[in-house]
Amino acid sequence: MSHRFVAGEELDEAIAAARACNDQGMLVSLDYLGENVATTEDAQRARDAYLEVFDRIAAEKLNANVSCKLTQLGLDMSAEFCEGQVLSIVERAASYENFLRVDMEGSIYTERTIDVVKRVRAKSPAIGTVIQSYLYRSEQDVQDLLEYGCRMRLCKGAYKEPPEVAFPKKEDVDANYVKLMRMLLPSGIYHGIATHDPKMIAATIKCAAEKTVSKDEFEFQMLYGVRTDLQRRLVRDGFRVRIYIPYGRDWFPYFMRRLAERPANVGFLVRNFFR
Ligand SMILES: Cc1cc2nc3c(=O)[nH]c(=O)nc-3n(C[C@H](O)[C@H](O)[C@H](O)COP(=O)(O)OP(=O)(O)OC[C@H]3O[C@@H](n4cnc5c(N)ncnc54)[C@H](O)[C@@H]3O)c2cc1C
Repeated sequence: MSHRFVAGEELDEAIAAARACNDQGMLVSLDYLGENVATTEDAQRARDAYLEVFDRIAAEKLNANVSCKLTQLGLDMSAEFCEGQVLSIVERAASYENFLRVDMEGSIYTERTIDVVKRVRAKSPAIGTVIQSYLYRSEQDVQDLLEYGCRMRLCKGAYKEPPEVAFPKKEDVDANYVKLMRMLLPSGIYHGIATHDPKMIAATIKCAAEKTVSKDEFEFQMLYGVRTDLQRRLVRDGFRVRIYIPYGRDWFPYFMRRLAERPANVGFLVRNFFR
């Protein structure tokens, strides 16, 4: 059942899914699933997996970059250790003129994630990160990261957060999304607008027209298996669309977040279970 959102447990399956997306005119970001690893050995294994992904992308001539999570690369153990791991991955990415996107996790990691990204970026610019519009702090983070010339992916945010740090109401999250999108789009830096929400997409297209931001100066990003109709429509309309393709054995937390953000998905799960 997780196959709806996850390409498979092995890299080969992710590569096949990436090729299919490329063939349909879509870009890809490959994500080797995993988070909150408990040992340095596990974190090093994850780093090696990411090095291999960049090698495979180059060998297979795919139009794909890579997304990772810092708690998979040892952030819970030490920021310095994690930074060294990320730097080695970014250097591999840079050697292929490719790019590493650091996903944003729960708010207890936001500050540390941004710090690691900034420090690595000072040595190699082939790295960017993610901003979540549900966090109050995000406007400040966008301002700050724009000064560093950092590429950002804007999303709404997928973790359960308390009202002390995040807007509890969807309408406020959406309003902040539009506000942040309007800061990012005309910044002259290439950003990713990650959403399946037609209202956010319409606001982005409107803003691009107003500020004369051309279709190749930003990209839409969507998750593998979500709103494939919308993905295709945007490609047909000439927009750049990147599909986030997760794979790997540690798919459970990712799958649960996808179920949690849309109650209808739980119905889908239950129906399939009994079938
Ligand atoms: C490329 C990409 C990368 C992301 N990276 C991160 C990250 O690093 N950190 C983070 O916290 N979050 C990340 N997210 C998740 C994001 O924060 C949201 O949780 C998720 O995208 C749902 O928000 P939405 O903008 O689609 O709007 P919503 O208002 O939640 O959804 C709009 C519509 O999209 C469709 N939809 C949305 N989610 C689903 C689903 N799971 N199943 C089926 N249909 C769905 C439905 O039709 C829904 O009505 C990422 C999302 C994308 C697209």
